[in-house]
Amino acid sequence: MRVHHLNCGTMRLPGARVVTHVLLLETPTGLALVDTGYGVADIAAPARRLGAYRHVVRPVLDRAETAVEQVRGLGFAPEDVRDVVVTHFDTDHVGGLADFPWARVHVTATEWEAASRPRTALERARYRSAQWEHGPQIAAHGPGGESWRGFAAARELTDVAPGVVLVPLPGHTRGHAAVAVDAGSRWVLHAGDAFYDLRALTGGVKPPAALRAQERAVAHDRGSLRANQERLAELHRQGQQDLLLVNAHDPAPLAAAR
Ligand SMILES: [Zn+2]
Repeated sequence: MRVHHLNCGTMRLPGARVVTHVLLLETPTGLALVDTGYGVADIAAPARRLGAYRHVVRPVLDRAETAVEQVRGLGFAPEDVRDVVVTHFDTDHVGGLADFPWARVHVTATEWEAASRPRTALERARYRSAQWEHGPQIAAHGPGGESWRGFAAARELTDVAPGVVLVPLPGHTRGHAAVAVDAGSRWVLHAGDAFYDLRALTGGVKPPAALRAQERAVAHDRGSLRANQERLAELHRQGQQDLLLVNAHDPAPLAAAR
């Protein structure tokens, strides 16, 4: 299926100016998004929707960057977005859900449990239920029985489209997942916030220290985060021609994908 690569949320994080990489998929039956970035309502009411953490990540909140505006700009109708698959429920990934209130929202059951019943101080601070008060239809997926390139518990979301696979990669949040998409000549693996900066996987020059500190500060489980980064680094080292590895916030893979 055809995959469009969008930036739906420029942020000025400590140590780095970053993007919020969103995939728009042209499936055989309509459109689907992987993550949403910030939405129109976030721009109208940032304090209520995003909370104090917006002062740390400092989003530019430009309406032209919202997924709904970019969908229109590509000549599509927003109503054709039938499904949204989210890597996790942090504010910069689900803010645009309210711009597609008819869409089914796919997420791991563990992440939906964390967002709707936060257990830790970090979870209570990071999730903002105002972003889903419009009551989207949630499809919460338990662990699947498949393996995707060595990652266990993967689940193909055939109700979105064949070739869209939810791959649990916990660590950043309790139920964080990557999303693999069959783009025809290659697979695109959107790793969400499993790593902030591709240089964390490649060795050599390290990501900025402030960015690494930020990544640790908001990690639900640093051990799982590190373990999954090692496995992603191995995948990246294999350098498969048929795989494009991207994440949410690093501008370099977004530029390479376009
Ligand atoms: Zn994020």
